[in-house]
Amino acid sequence: MKSQWNDDEARRALEAYGAEGVNEDIALRVYTTRLIGRDPLLVLHGGGNTSVKTRAVDDLGQEHDVIAVKGSGADMAEIEPWGLPAVKLGPLREMRGLDALSDEAMVNCQRLNLLDAAAPNPSVETLLHAFLPHKFVDHAHAAAVLSLVDQPDGVALARELYNGRMGIVPYIAPGFDLAKVAADVFDEKPDVEGLILHKHGIFTFGDTAQDAYERMIEMVSLAESRLRQGRPVVFQAGQLPGATASAAEIAPILRGACAIHRPGQEPVRFIAEYRSSPAVLDYVNGAELASYSQRGVVTPDHIIRTKNKPLEVPAPESGKLDDFAKAVEAAVETYVAEYDLYFARENEAVGGTKTKLDPMPRVVLVPGVGLFGLGRSAKDAAIAGDLAENTVRVITDAEAIGRYEPLPESDLFALEYWSLEQAKLAKQVVKPLTGQVAVVTGAGAIGTATAKALAGDGAAVAVLDIDGEAAAEAARAVKGIGIACDVTKPGDVANAFAAVCARFGGVDLLVSNAGAAWQGRIGDVPDEVLRKSFELNFFAHQTVAREAVAIMLKQGTGGALLFNISKQAVNPGQNFGPYGLPKAATMLLMRQYALDYGADGIRSNGVNADRIRSGLLTDEMIAARSEARGVTETGYM
Ligand code: ZN
Repeated sequence: MKSQWNDDEARRALEAYGAEGVNEDIALRVYTTRLIGRDPLLVLHGGGNTSVKTRAVDDLGQEHDVIAVKGSGADMAEIEPWGLPAVKLGPLREMRGLDALSDEAMVNCQRLNLLDAAAPNPSVETLLHAFLPHKFVDHAHAAAVLSLVDQPDGVALARELYNGRMGIVPYIAPGFDLAKVAADVFDEKPDVEGLILHKHGIFTFGDTAQDAYERMIEMVSLAESRLRQGRPVVFQAGQLPGATASAAEIAPILRGACAIHRPGQEPVRFIAEYRSSPAVLDYVNGAELASYSQRGVVTPDHIIRTKNKPLEVPAPESGKLDDFAKAVEAAVETYVAEYDLYFARENEAVGGTKTKLDPMPRVVLVPGVGLFGLGRSAKDAAIAGDLAENTVRVITDAEAIGRYEPLPESDLFALEYWSLEQAKLAKQVVKPLTGQVAVVTGAGAIGTATAKALAGDGAAVAVLDIDGEAAAEAARAVKGIGIACDVTKPGDVANAFAAVCARFGGVDLLVSNAGAAWQGRIGDVPDEVLRKSFELNFFAHQTVAREAVAIMLKQGTGGALLFNISKQAVNPGQNFGPYGLPKAATMLLMRQYALDYGADGIRSNGVNADRIRSGLLTDEMIAARSEARGVTETGYM
C-alpha cells in the first residue's frame, strides 16, 4: 500500500476550502479523509472515521477548542466540511471521568456540545478520538490488519509485528467503554504511533494530517508484508460438477428462496448483486468452505450489512436446476431456523428487549459460480457484495498465515441489535416497489417516463431498446441498466433477460411497451408490412412476456405483466389496421397470460394508451390520424 499524499493536491484543497472560509485544519482533514475513504483496502461503506482538534467560533462569537469528527451518514471518499461536525472538546474529555455511560446518553452529550445544532450525529467513536491528545486521528478497518488480528493469537501477532510502535487494545464494542480502555492503553505508552483494536481495526495519529495518514499507510503496509509470508495456495478446491449453471440461471432461484412471504401482501424481496472475481471463485470453490466461511464477520460493523454468516448452497449442476432449487430451499430453511435460535438465545440474555430483524441472509456463496450480495435496494445489494468481497480477501489472507477466528456471536449481537441501529431501522422508508426488479421495453417517451415512475417507487429498473444508446440514456436517469435489444429477436430477448438476472437477480415487473405504428388501408397493405407489424406489435410482446414469466416462476413470488396496447385494439380507426390488428391480438395475449398464470400470482394487465405525444405519436402521425378519423387535430388529441 502506497501513500497517495500529494503536496500539490493538498495545497489545492487548502486554497479551495480557504476561499470558502474553511480553516486549514479542516481543509487538510477533508483531504486525507478522502484519501483513506477512496481505498477499499482501508475502509468500506462507513467503516472508519477521522478527526482533527482545532478551534471554532460559535454564534456568540466565542472561540472554542473543538474536535471536528466524521459524522454519521458522511461518506469518507466524498466528505465535505459539513461531514465533520465540530463538538466542544472540553466536555467530551470530562466524560472520561464517568464510570459508565449508555449509548443514548453518549449521543445526547455529543449532540449537546455541537456548535451547529443541525449537524449530523458525530461518530460513535468520537470519544476515542477525543480522549487521545493528538491533533489528527485516523481510524480504518484495514483488510490487512483484520487478517492479522482475526486469529486465535492475533494479539501476539500484532505485538510481534509492530514491536512496541502500536498499542494493542482488547476487543470491546464501540462506544464509551472502548474509548476509555483505548485511552488507558495509550497512557501506558504515550510514544506509540497508533492503536491496533483487536478484531476491529486500526487507529493512527499525528500532529499533522500528513503524519497521521502516512502512519496509517505504513502500519497497514507492515501488516500486508506479514501476510505475504503466508501460504501462496490457501484453499484446496472441492468437488464441483462437470458443468455448473450460470449466475443468470440461478439468481432467480436464490432471490425467490430468500423472499419473505406475507399473507395478503407483496412478498419482501431482495435485489441480488453477483460477484465472481478469481479470488471469490477460489474461495467459494474451497473444499473447506463450510468451515472458514461460517465463522463470522471480519469486523463487527459489517454485521449490519451482511449478517454474521453467509448462506452457503451446493454447486448448481448445469441442467439440474430443479435439484438446485430444492437444495436452496432446504438451505434457506436451515439458515432461518438457526438465525431464529441465535436471536432467541441472545435476546433472552439481554432481557428480551430487542426487535427481531428479518432472518434472511445478505450474502450467498455458490461453489462454481461466485457470490451474491442481497439487499432491499440495488445499492444495499452492492454494499453487501462489496463487504462480501472484502471478507473473502480478509479470510483468505488470514487462513494463509494461520486460522481465521473472528469474534464470537455474543459480541456481535450487541452490534447487530445496537439500540442506535434499531432506532435508525424504525425510521427507514420502504417504497411500494422496494426490492422489485422492473424491465421496460422501448426507451421512447412512454418507456422513459415509466422507468422513472417505477424507479421513483423503489424498483431497480432495466430498459431495453433496439437503440442501445437510447436504452443507456433512459437507464442512466434512473440508475438502472440499459440493454440493446431487438425485441423481435428471441435470442436478443433471452440474452437481455439473462443480463437483467445477472445484474439484479431476477424480474418482478415487465412493462412490454416497445412498438411502432404502420398505416394503410387493409385491402392494400402488403402482407410484408402486416407481418412486420405483427412481429413487433404482437410476437415481441409474447416473447418478452414468456421470458419474464419463466423467471417469475423460478422465483415463485408472483409478478406483474403490463402490456402497452393501444386504443386501436378496442376502437380501430380507418386505415390503421396494420397497427390495430396485432394490438388487438396483444390485448387477448394479456388476457391469456392472466388465465394461464394468475394462479401463480402473476398479474397481467394492459393499458390502451392514447394521445400521448411520443416517438410514435408524432405531429405527422397526429395529422394523419385526425384526418383518417375526420376530426381536427385538437379534437383528435
Ligand atoms: Zn471502527
